[in-house]
Amino acid sequence: MAATPLDGRATAERIRARLKDEVAELGGLRLATVLVGDDPASHLYISLKHKAAKEVGIEPLDHRLPGTISEEDLLDVVRGLNADEDVDGILPQLPLPDGIDEARVIRAVDPVKDVDGFHPFNAGQLYLGRPTLVPATPKGVLTLLDEYRIPLDGARAVVVGRSDIVGKPVAHLLLQRNATVTICHSHTDDLARQTLDADVLVVAVGLAGLVDADMVKQGAAVVDVGQNQTEAGLVGDVDPGVAARAAFLTPVPGGVGPMTIASLLENTVLAARFRGGMLAFPRG
Ligand code: NDP
Repeated sequence: MAATPLDGRATAERIRARLKDEVAELGGLRLATVLVGDDPASHLYISLKHKAAKEVGIEPLDHRLPGTISEEDLLDVVRGLNADEDVDGILPQLPLPDGIDEARVIRAVDPVKDVDGFHPFNAGQLYLGRPTLVPATPKGVLTLLDEYRIPLDGARAVVVGRSDIVGKPVAHLLLQRNATVTICHSHTDDLARQTLDADVLVVAVGLAGLVDADMVKQGAAVVDVGQNQTEAGLVGDVDPGVAARAAFLTPVPGGVGPMTIASLLENTVLAARFRGGMLAFPRG
């Protein structure tokens, strides 16, 4: 039997419908994006984020800066947005051009407006099991698993990939939900031995078709975060043949991608609630 698709598009649509009401109750919100340079993929991501934001009543504040901007001038822009009471969330679109210290820019964002959840404060909260603002893609993965009621407590979860923006935070979120978590990476010996053990398998590598049906346990839930542009179009890290063995599988496109953007909007609402004192933000 073919796997049930974990439909990120439909789930994201439901999230946006709910957020629309929440944003209206909060009296409208503003999300500042900072796009530096002219990377075409970044331009596309920003336009998708703006479109989704507008749909739920979040006003995007579109800051576009030349690729030649100095690090100090960029930091000044971020500091200005931190100080602006009308800004609920700040998103510097990554990657930043060569010569700009990305980590420094991320550290400059006020943690309570850090809707990407990349600031070391928010990463630390996640590590401590007290998540505040969580990176959007990992958050979207967990929301999708919950939407389909995939059991996590006591499940064996394997995460392939250990990046700061996907693999590591996904692993921490799964751990927080009492899964037994294994993290694999490019030095993992015999990847299939690990993945075959997974009740829940999350793949975030960036290699088309890395995981095939022989590497997946019968009945597993498989989340494919990968987005690889190929001659055949956009494909994931998981071979579509996995659908014959898995119980659940995310499509690419239409799986994790839409969930990422919906989660970013959720984070903007959360950030506004933190800042407005409706939820306690644990600082100082
Ligand atoms: P990174 O390149 O930062 O990390 C890739 C990870 O994969 C690394 O930890 C690397 O290991 C590991 N890896 C590389 N080769 C292998 C291998 N042969 N076997 C096992 N592990 C391996 O990527 P990201 O985490 O940023 O992104 C991963 C994928 O997810 C990409 O396709 C990206 O486009 C996609 N993505 C999709 C999003 C969405 O919204 N759908 C959002 C963000 C990313 P090591 O650490 O040892 O180098």
